[in-house]
Amino acid sequence: MTTQRVYKTEAIVLKGIKLGEADKILTLYTPYLGKIRAVAKGIRRPKSKLRGHVETLTHSTLMLARGKNLDIITQGQTIHSFLPLRDSLWRTSHALYASELTDRFTAEQVENLSLFQLLLDALKLLCQTEDAGLIRHYFELHLLSHIGYRPQLERCIKCDSRLNPTANFFSIGGGGVLCPDCQHKESAVYPISLNALKTMRFLQNSDCSSATRLRINPRLSVELELLMQKYITYLLERRVESVKWIDKLREQG
Ligand SMILES: [Zn+2]
Repeated sequence: MTTQRVYKTEAIVLKGIKLGEADKILTLYTPYLGKIRAVAKGIRRPKSKLRGHVETLTHSTLMLARGKNLDIITQGQTIHSFLPLRDSLWRTSHALYASELTDRFTAEQVENLSLFQLLLDALKLLCQTEDAGLIRHYFELHLLSHIGYRPQLERCIKCDSRLNPTANFFSIGGGGVLCPDCQHKESAVYPISLNALKTMRFLQNSDCSSATRLRINPRLSVELELLMQKYITYLLERRVESVKWIDKLREQG
């Protein structure tokens, strides 16, 4: 942490909550300071110059002044406004999901540069992709790796044998895959198809450009979504709010 009175940082705005008449408290994710909260004064007024630079899901350069409790944003300059995200509720809901996971899985002021880069990549990819679900799973798996919950997908987490190319089992408490012989040794175990396992391995080990070339069919997508949701909900000990929105949009077709 720097002790200067004013400092500059890049940030992605994860969320904002109203404060008083015209202000907001923003939750920001930064490359070198991790997650921070800061006050944006007057940004709910139509004439605010700062407003456009600190909307949720904007990537900006910000100047902040140290405050007694929370720091105060004094200037902002947008780097990426991710406009395509704002044109589509479907893309928006996935982007908000990524920002919610980032918020929920991190503590304040713990630097995690790879996580910052991952979130930035995910927002860029969501602007271009036709398959937001694929980007979602790419993001989830890499997020889990960056914060120490990388699922073990190569060997059985109990007996350490190499997994056979057959249906195996995913243990959410164990954070990885069990072979058919060991599946009864853990509770909260779910079947995982060979296809789902291969896809998760591929996403876990690829960078974003090779991940986006993958095509997954709707059935596989549903299987991955259920497994990842169960694992993430278990880790967070409650349901992720923005998932409800994704589900609702899907029902409406
Ligand atoms: Zn085993």
